[in-house]
Formats: sequence, C-alpha cells, structure tokens
Amino acid sequence: MRKVKIYNWIDNQPVAAANDEWIDNINPCNGNVISQIPRSKAKDGFAAVESALGCYSLGGGGNSGAAGLSPNDRTDLLLAVADRMESRLEELAMAESKDTGKPFKISVGGDVPRAIDNMRFFAKLLAGETTQSSASLNSLNYVLRRPLGVVALITPWNFPIHLLTWKLAPAIAMGNSVVAKPSELTPTSAFILAQIFKEVGAAPGLFNLVHGYGSEIGDTLVRHPNIEGVSFTGGTETGKAIALAAAPLLKKTSFELGGKNPSVVFADCEFEKTLDTVARAAFFNSGQVCLCGSRILIDSKIYNKFAEGLVEKALFYKKEVGPLISQSHREKVMSYVHSARQEGNILCGGEIYGDSQGAYLEPTIIDGVHHDSSIVQEEIFGPVVTLHPFDTEAEALELANETAYGLSASIFTTNLKRAHYFSEHVQSGMVWVNDWNLRDLRVPFGGMKQSGFGREGGKYSLRFFSQDRNVCIRFNYD
Ligand code: NAD
Repeated sequence: MRKVKIYNWIDNQPVAAANDEWIDNINPCNGNVISQIPRSKAKDGFAAVESALGCYSLGGGGNSGAAGLSPNDRTDLLLAVADRMESRLEELAMAESKDTGKPFKISVGGDVPRAIDNMRFFAKLLAGETTQSSASLNSLNYVLRRPLGVVALITPWNFPIHLLTWKLAPAIAMGNSVVAKPSELTPTSAFILAQIFKEVGAAPGLFNLVHGYGSEIGDTLVRHPNIEGVSFTGGTETGKAIALAAAPLLKKTSFELGGKNPSVVFADCEFEKTLDTVARAAFFNSGQVCLCGSRILIDSKIYNKFAEGLVEKALFYKKEVGPLISQSHREKVMSYVHSARQEGNILCGGEIYGDSQGAYLEPTIIDGVHHDSSIVQEEIFGPVVTLHPFDTEAEALELANETAYGLSASIFTTNLKRAHYFSEHVQSGMVWVNDWNLRDLRVPFGGMKQSGFGREGGKYSLRFFSQDRNVCIRFNYD
C-alpha cells in the first residue's frame, strides 16, 4: 500500500527532502504507521531559510514587515488563518489525535480551539505595539519596534498545534518570516497549517516548514547565520544543546523547558475541589505536560485521606487519557516505576495496558520515596507522581524549592496570607493559588532555573519577536 506523505513546505510548495529519505510517523494508540515525513538535512534547511529571507526582504526594512505587509495586513492575515482553521477544525483535531494519541474530544474541544485563539489573540494585540514616544525639553525620543528577520520556531510533541501557533502568531504579527520545525513525532497539524496560510493568501516564504530529526535539521536552523532568533520549547537537555550552538552567533533565544512542579496541599484547602485539581494536574494528557504537578506535597494532617482520594481519581483518569507518545518513551517512564518498586510503595497503577503495539500506562501514584531520589528530582513526563507529607509551612516551601527546575507551582489553601507568602518565596516562573493551568494569554508564561528563560504570552511574545530601535531628535542647539 502506498504510504501517505507529509512534506516540507518551502516557498508555499510541498517538497520532499533533497535526499528523498523518509521517517515513519507512528500512531501511539496502536503502533500503525500513519504517514511518512521527510528526513530533512542541511540542504533543506538552507532552502527554507533562503525562501524566508526572500520574503522578509520584500518588506525593504522600512515600516512594513516580511512580504511587505503592514501591521494591519498582518492582523487581517492572522484573522483569516484563524477563520480557516475553524472551518477545518475537525481535520486538524483528527490529525492531532492520530499523531499524539490523545482522545479526539480533547483535540477538538481543547487543543485546536486554543490554537485558533492564539491566532486571534496576537492578531488583535498587535495594535498599539509598534511605537512609543517621549519628549523632553530639548529632544523627542521615539522607539521603533522592528522585526528580527527570519526566525526559527522549534516545538515539541505534547501540544503540537497549540505550541506552534503560540510562537507563529506573534512572530508573524511582528513582521518576521518563519521557518518552523515541529517534532518529528507530531508533524501533521503543522503541515495542514502551512496549507491554510497559502489558502488565505500568505506570500511564499512567510511560513516555511521543515520536518526531521532535531539533531539534523533542527541543528541546521539553529546554526544558520540568517536565522536571527530561535524560539524553543522542549526538553532541558535539548535546550542546553541549542544554547551552545546559538551562542557563538549571539542569537536571540527563548527557552521553555522541562519542569518538576509541586502541587502543595494544605490541610485548610477546599478538600474536594483540591482533589479534582491536583488529579488533573497530575494526569491530564497522561502527565505529558511541562506544567504537570508531579511532586504532590501534602499536609500530614490530611495525608492519608488525600492519598486515598487521589487513588480513586487515578482510576477515572485511566479511562479518560490516551497513551504516551511512543513505546520508547513509555520504557523510559517505566524505568522510574521499576525504581519506585525498590525505593517506595506504588499506591496504584504502574502497569502497561491496552493494544500490545500501543503505549498506554496506568496513572501511577508512588509514596515513601526520599525527596532526593531521581524519581522525585527528574522530569518523568508521564502519568507518574510522588506524594510527600509535610508538617509545617516552612517544610512545604523547602520541599517545593528542592528541585533543579522552576517552571510552575500550585498551592491549595484558604489562608490568604499563606498564599501570598508562598507565592513570594517559591522558586518558579508561575504560581497558581487554588488552581492549575488557568491561563490568561496576556500574562507571562515561562520558567526559571533549569526550566529555561524568556517569557511567552501577550506583549512578552511580541517583544521577543522584535527589537527596539530608539530614535532621538534634538529640537535645537540653544
Ligand atoms: P525535545 O527536547 O526532545 O524536542 C523538542 C524539539 O526540539 C523537537 O522538535 C526536536 O526535534 C527538536 N530538537 C531536538 N534536538 C535538537 C537540536 N539539537 N537542535 C535543534 N532542535 C532539536 O522535547 P520533546 O520530547 O519533544 O518534548 C518534551 C519536553 O518538552 C519536556 O521536557 C517538556 O517539559 C518540554 N515542554 C516544555 C514546555 C514549556 O512551555 N516549558 C511546554 C511543552 C513541553
């Protein structure tokens, strides 16, 4: 049977890799090959950057951006893309579910609508972000916000279209042209999106797409002298490799990396609501969320009751979530479960299930492991969480901060003073009080420590994808 092919997208055309090599794209629910993607290498990366550069130079470096589009033109383009995505919602959601394995109702009701929101949000936010001015006695200063030029967007597999549009919309809004490199495990929705850009009249070269392995085509983009900025979301080790490669060229970079986030549950929390939220933070998307609350710190006064409640919720999530992204990722996750059997107690889960060629793993709750164990300190990125009791607020804070990561933290309490104190002292880029993953697209998203640097969201994204140029005009020489 002829295999379905996903192509690179260069100059508004679908193209195979120059070497005509292909990588199988596997459905993690059943191990079936869904399609094949190009195994792109340097030559393909150079062609994509050349196309993006050609498109960028149409703007002439003046007030317009890539393809000569004014800010208003860019707003119209992004809104048109959003409308077209909406009319192809089910197709996009189906692609996303096949690639990632996540249930269709999550893709169609969550991931793709969020991606459409990203497009509309940045299209509208653009107004008013172009210039600022200030006058003093003898001079007028104004600031031009200029695009960077050609930027590379490198994204992971856990929320493919949401995370791509979260970068793509602000990059285009600010007048850049783009070369995107989605995860080799989840290529399809990006390919559909590229076609949508063409359908709504985007100029050739505005949005280019290259598929393949990160160490090959990803690395080519990062090192390419005409890529002015690299916006990366993915694992911490990959982030370090990209930082090393980008440093000699002093490229502008942004890193959204891994996490090992605490959910901190105080005895004065609203018990049932907290249980629901902590379970969602643990097991949503099979625990494959950078923000997942995988270290659950529980006030010892309610430890046993809360642990029992979580075990019940885990059984519910087994029916609700999909597989892990691949069998090899599941093997990595299982290695932590095996260690847990030696070091502590498995309260529930820990077994694989479902189609023998699929990658399912039961939601797993572990207790009795020491906080400095690798199970607690390393990002597992699966439905595996550890529970830890604490006696005092100070101990809770110490445990929360006892990690190399610093992406997000959730605290559950009805004590306002405690919530403020904790939010002030916990080492993370984002804190939720009595919730998890409650998002407002305007606020800064990002981490500290080994979770990366740079912020995305609202004006933070627009700033990353642009640079300020100050112009100072002297009024007179008196
Ligand atoms: P990954 O780091 O393996 O890959 C991410 C992307 O980088 C992929 O497109 C990959 O092909 C590419 N890549 C790999 N090596 C590269 C190289 N040397 N040069 C250039 N590109 C390269 O991550 P993953 O397994 O796809 O995703 C899971 C990770 O992403 C987890 O650690 C998770 O926490 C993190 N993540 C972080 C956030 C956040 O906002 N902080 C969001 C989602 C996922």
